[in-house]
Amino acid sequence: MAGGEELTLKILVDKAQNKVLFAEAGEEFVDVLLSFLTPPLGTIVRLLSMPSDSSQLKFGSLSTLYQSVSALQTKHFWTKVGKDMLLNPRNSAAAQCQKLKIDIDDTARTKYFMCPDMLNNKHAGSPLLSTLEDVKCTCGSLMNTQMELVASDVRLQESTSGVFVTETASFIITDDLQIMPNLLGTTVALLSTHGKTDRNVPEQRTLKMGVEEVLNLLRGSLLSKTPLTDLVRQGPFSCDIVKSDTGKYLPRITDSINTNCRRMAVKVLVLKSTKKALLAQVEEDFVDFLFSFLTIPLGSVVSLLGGECSFWSISNLYKSILSLDVERHIKSQDLKDMLLEPMLAQKFLCKNQILPIREVEAPTLCCVFNGPHSYLIDKQNSPFLQCSQVICVDPKNPTGGTTVVGGFIKGPATFMVSDDLTVIPFSSLSIISALNRLNISLGDVEEREMSIGMEEALGLLKASLESTSALTDGLSLVLQKPKQEKNP
Ligand SMILES: [Zn+2]
Repeated sequence: MAGGEELTLKILVDKAQNKVLFAEAGEEFVDVLLSFLTPPLGTIVRLLSMPSDSSQLKFGSLSTLYQSVSALQTKHFWTKVGKDMLLNPRNSAAAQCQKLKIDIDDTARTKYFMCPDMLNNKHAGSPLLSTLEDVKCTCGSLMNTQMELVASDVRLQESTSGVFVTETASFIITDDLQIMPNLLGTTVALLSTHGKTDRNVPEQRTLKMGVEEVLNLLRGSLLSKTPLTDLVRQGPFSCDIVKSDTGKYLPRITDSINTNCRRMAVKVLVLKSTKKALLAQVEEDFVDFLFSFLTIPLGSVVSLLGGECSFWSISNLYKSILSLDVERHIKSQDLKDMLLEPMLAQKFLCKNQILPIREVEAPTLCCVFNGPHSYLIDKQNSPFLQCSQVICVDPKNPTGGTTVVGGFIKGPATFMVSDDLTVIPFSSLSIISALNRLNISLGDVEEREMSIGMEEALGLLKASLESTSALTDGLSLVLQKPKQEKNP
């Protein structure tokens, strides 16, 4: 995190109510605000549940899901690196966010590693590269020789200031984080909706924000409809998580990703009287699916849920980007797309992902071999240099190499998922003790076999954000249907 940096924000405050009417900000603050869409959910859970955070807020069932990854023994993951990928998921926009005045995402930056034997010419085949440390090479050694990438992305280095929005742009930001171009008409309209009278003259203030305040604003953007006012009042956040209608999704990402045919089978123990899902017996594919929530950038989650999610102010922020002009307000269409549909970081996608999400395309890197002085270059920038193209290994693959294994979780294996998305290895004894703990009579319990497709998958993602009964709420459409008896 950039230490000691400060953002200033001019705000107009209704003195009587101590309420923010709107803020006026330039590129530095708006860039930070827009960057909120880029970190994966796992990073957001981690940042906002730091021990220093007294509020210890829970985000639906995501906090328990994150804790499950942390508590699950390494032997259940294909690789130790895979577990760390879920606990510290990379931000695919890290290169951009690095240039922010305050970057709250403190996840390690992308580094490059190769097998030491590779550099001593002891390997046959294409040179292999990893973007994570301690990934196994095909030869069995660990790929832990860090490589320097010389003259990396020139396009990134060209522009020195401004990350997402143009340097000269100026914006008005409402209390619920709608971002608008700073125009006379906007100001007048906002003031008139507030009903300014002579007795109630708004006061101009300047808000100084460090890392702590930006983290508070991120928290407010997820939980509150008035995050700027909450910041000014410095009190506890008003929690406005509203469950929105289930079952209505307008997925934005539809082109070229067809995951419709994939389905996962789960067995759910349902309480007959209340149609509540008590727990589910699942296999590794479903656990991979749940854990993958932690790797999805916040902006992609909003996009997957069709712009409608329980995070009120984040949804406003997202919708604002749609209406901002490329070049006039946002620097390029690529950056606009990056914010509206941030992709998974490189090598984070699971083979059988049921949700229509993508991972970033890796740049074509080449290695210039020179023993211990070997280095990497971006082929695009130095087309005439003598070098060999490197291939990225899949850090989830336990034997090394580039073959993509299914996902993070080693199979075949059976797991138990509770209603709040706690995931533990399956055991009949823990089911019995769970039923005892919940004081449930066995007569009221039935087992349902369900097939999870994209619609149910989106329902579960949505419920994981807003509910501590994510299984029940996410599968409500299926649970409401009467049980279908199997044909004999
Ligand atoms: Zn090797």
